[in-house]
Formats: sequence, C-alpha cells, structure tokens
Amino acid sequence: MGKNVAEIRDLNWSYRDKPLFTNLSATFPSEAFISIVGPNGSGKTTLLRHFLKILPPPKGAILLEEGDLLAYPQRDLAKYISYVPQQSRLEYDFTVYECVAMGRYAHEKRLASLSQNDHALIKEALEVMNLSSLSTRLATELSGGEYQRVLIARALAQQSRLILLDEPVSNLDLHHQREILTLLKSLVNQKVATVVCVLHDLNTVSAFSDLVIMMDRGEIVAEGSVKEVLTKERIEEVYHVAVELLYPPGREQPLVIPKWN
Ligand code: ADP
Repeated sequence: MGKNVAEIRDLNWSYRDKPLFTNLSATFPSEAFISIVGPNGSGKTTLLRHFLKILPPPKGAILLEEGDLLAYPQRDLAKYISYVPQQSRLEYDFTVYECVAMGRYAHEKRLASLSQNDHALIKEALEVMNLSSLSTRLATELSGGEYQRVLIARALAQQSRLILLDEPVSNLDLHHQREILTLLKSLVNQKVATVVCVLHDLNTVSAFSDLVIMMDRGEIVAEGSVKEVLTKERIEEVYHVAVELLYPPGREQPLVIPKWN
C-alpha cells in the first residue's frame, strides 16, 4: 500500500433534514483492495457517490492527490475515478462495444474521435472480462451478470487510478464472482489501481481485502485490516446476528459463519 489516493475529512451530509454523516473521516491508501461493509442503510452507497460530484457539495473535504475533489473538472475526475454502480439496467440500445467505449471518452476531446489506442484498450477490456464474443450484442439483451461485466470492462477501459464498485458481485454466480474479484485484486497487486468495493459477503471481504471500512448508521465504526475489523464482537454488534469465526489451517483470515438459529 502506498500513500493515500483519497482522503475524506470531516464530511457532513444530510438527506434533506436527516443527518447521515457527522464529521466522517477516512483514508484510502493507494494500491489497496479496500472493502466497505455495513448493514443496509449505513451510508455505503452515499459515501461512494460523494466521490462522483453528483450530490450537492458537502461540508468537509474529499481530497485527491492534487487537492479538493470539488476543484477537479468533471473530465479530469473521470480520468482519476471510475464507478461501477449497483446493478442497473440500460434503457438505450448501445452495443457492448459502445458501452465499454464510453470509458474512453474522458480521455478524448470529441466523442467521435477515438484513436487506435482507445480501440486497443476497449478490446483489451472486453477480452479481460470475457466479453469479446458479445461485443456486437445490445447491452439491453444481456443477462444481469453479463451486463455487470460490461460495466466493469468500461471502468477498466477508463484506466482510472481509483475504481469504486457498489456490490459488483451480488448478482453473479460463484465462478464469475471469483473471476471479477481476482481480476480486481490483480489490478491492485500490479499497482494499476486502488479498488474500493462495497461488499456484503463477509467471507468475500475476508478473502480479498487489504483494508476494511465498516459502517453503521452513517458512522465508520472500524477501519483496518481484516483481522482488526472483522471480530466476532463487532460483527455481532453491528449486524445483530450471532457469528462464529473459524480459522482453517493455512488461512490467515477468518471464515465468518452466521448462526441462523
Ligand atoms: P447503504 O448503501 O449502506 O445501504 P445508503 O447510502 O444507500 O446506504 O443510504 C443511507 C441512508 O440514507 C439510508 O437511511 C437511506 O434511506 C438514506 N438515503 C439514501 N438515498 C437517499 C435519497 N436519495 N434521499 C433521501 N434519503 C436517502
């Protein structure tokens, strides 16, 4: 992990009159796989959306390498940060290739002027995500899992330093979950990007994260390594479910087993 790719300082935020974040602070070291966990409604998606300048400017600062995020022009921000939203469906008839090409527009002055290099990067992203054979298909005609892979391919083509993903594997089968998570992890290991990922499954979090940020009711209740954050006591307190932690032989990180009854 290197120095910080982003830092949040004393972020204050309310939806209408309902305060969600009060002086929330967090650091995001570069070249790390950072998971954000917490119960529904704890503020995970809202935290990610603050990185996109789509919410009204908050009180407090989000600092990127060259200063306050609010001072970055939208195009420069797109070179720095890519975002894979929670499962959403496309309303327009774009092909898979066109969807992934959108990741390159932040780098080009005009939409129609993609260079050879752009096309090479688009093809590479399609290949990595195993989508080459679907490139001429309409995105509206894909399965949920295929469409999720298109969104991730678009983020890869964008070549940003910080990739934010909101529950990227919730709709995928185990094989595709593994494929996407190992790919994201390899981007981190090759120092290509920092990955910040909202995840629900604590065993996935345990297996892949360098750092975990745990949220509860708009607060960051813990931030640190898997072992520091995913303790039995904290999980039980935050999720209101009894759990057991197991350490299988040869594994550093715990398995989290919920006790359902
Ligand atoms: P999470 O991603 O952890 O499930 P969210 O960030 O989506 O949490 O939501 C945090 C809180 O903010 C919840 O109480 C939610 O109801 C509220 N909230 C989210 N989006 C909006 C919105 N657009 N308007 C008003 N309240 C919202």
